[in-house]
Amino acid sequence: MSNIEKELFGIVGDRVSCDVADLIPFERDDQCPIVPPHLPDYVVQPATKEEVQDIMRLANENKIPVVPLSAGINRKGLCIASKGGILLDLRRMNRIIDVDKEMMTATIEPGATFVQLVEALKGTGLRAITPDAPATVSVLANYMLRGIYGSSTRYGIDHLLTIEVVLPNGEVLETGSAATPNGIPYSGIVNGPDFCKLFQGSPGNLGVITKARIKVYPMPEEIKVKFAMYKSIDAMVEPTIRFAKEDLVAGMWAMTFSPNIMKLMMPDSPLGTKDDEDFFAMVLFLEGSADRVAADEKAIKKILKSTGGMFMPMPSDVMVKDHMCMRSAVGGWRAGNLYGCSFYGVMKLVPEYYRVCKEVCKKYDLEGLHYEAMPVAPFNGQLTYNDPCIFWDASDPDQVQRMVKLNKELIERLLDVGIYGWFRAFPGVVDASVLGKYGEFWRDIKRFIDPNSIMNPGKPPEAVE
Ligand SMILES: Cc1cc2nc3c(=O)[nH]c(=O)nc-3n(C[C@H](O)[C@H](O)[C@H](O)COP(=O)(O)OP(=O)(O)OC[C@H]3O[C@@H](n4cnc5c(N)ncnc54)[C@H](O)[C@@H]3O)c2cc1C
Repeated sequence: MSNIEKELFGIVGDRVSCDVADLIPFERDDQCPIVPPHLPDYVVQPATKEEVQDIMRLANENKIPVVPLSAGINRKGLCIASKGGILLDLRRMNRIIDVDKEMMTATIEPGATFVQLVEALKGTGLRAITPDAPATVSVLANYMLRGIYGSSTRYGIDHLLTIEVVLPNGEVLETGSAATPNGIPYSGIVNGPDFCKLFQGSPGNLGVITKARIKVYPMPEEIKVKFAMYKSIDAMVEPTIRFAKEDLVAGMWAMTFSPNIMKLMMPDSPLGTKDDEDFFAMVLFLEGSADRVAADEKAIKKILKSTGGMFMPMPSDVMVKDHMCMRSAVGGWRAGNLYGCSFYGVMKLVPEYYRVCKEVCKKYDLEGLHYEAMPVAPFNGQLTYNDPCIFWDASDPDQVQRMVKLNKELIERLLDVGIYGWFRAFPGVVDASVLGKYGEFWRDIKRFIDPNSIMNPGKPPEAVE
């Protein structure tokens, strides 16, 4: 055993390993052409905040990189130990500490999954906001990264209230009202800046979040999923903005499917498309009292009619119950790998973003494109999450080369059209050096909190080497 391994053993017992068989599952992910594979040196599985503190002190003193991982489901390069070091696997810290019905909150540890949360809320009249992601995803990591949900158009993307963070030097920071002596830990907007926001959207490179207080919401009387078709993506823009602005939906996806994606995702669907034509569809989530859902459905039908859309039967078995998605919809993963550089933009430009994605995919002969756009938070109906999902095969070296070029060109072309910015701090996508003072300030904050740069190095605001 090396000295470091011995010291880690002293902290977590046999929950540390440097055996390559234990390390290799963490080596690479779908973003491998853009974020090169790299092995961590140790996998460590703490069970308490105190163990995390001891690990951080040891790592900081010895300048060893630390990569926190709460579930490791969709890494998009975020959990690759690009400079080796400790892969801090937090899956043992998986308690739902409390559910407070009156405050409509829950307190969770990083390893707690959406399955656990949904179970804990059963019978309380409350529900969690859940992503269309695997149910084994970490609630804390997903909310920390601000996910996208079937209800984001109405309820937005921010469901974190306050957090407990172990800083790189081992000290513990409580944010918002949790810092007030005897404070009730459920409000971020007190005392001064809301430091919870500072840690949100950061790819685990400022500290290790060991506890979070989250919002939970009343379970609606009815959740109805409707499916509509349009002839083009352009035709979906106006109704989408109206559905959001007029608060007719809890959430909605405007989507396109290239013919080969249609074949993969819905091989038996009668909604199939001609071999050379894209398919345009909308999924709408209606929620509320039965009366409200009926009234919203009527208003939506009127808008569909006046904009050239129509309701279609829901393809069977693909969607939602209480917003817990059945992932049979993700048949596209059979194609192999999924490239992503999701971003925020404005709804009126979605057709332009989509055309750019199509052109770049065509140029590099990677035509498994499925495009999704969802307005998040009503306001002007324009703020839109965009996800150009490109399915490809990382076992083909030629495709790997093409994917590297596609990534570079797609980023440049989307920035030329004009976007708000990238969805998450994806390495190989977000480049802090083009963000002016914002980028500089971000790097300064990172240096202030993590002077030895041990936290998940190689992620924005640092560049991938
Ligand atoms: C099929 C599929 C569909 C998906 N659909 C959706 C969707 O609809 N909506 C959506 O929002 N997401 C979706 N995702 C993405 C995925 O669910 C999220 O990215 C996920 O929440 C993050 O993965 P994770 O929970 O495994 O976190 P991890 O992979 O463990 O961590 C993600 C990042 O957070 C950091 N981190 C993790 N834990 C901590 C911590 N305790 N403290 C500090 N930093 C930490 C890590 O270092 C890493 O940078 C989907 C994924 C898949 C595979």
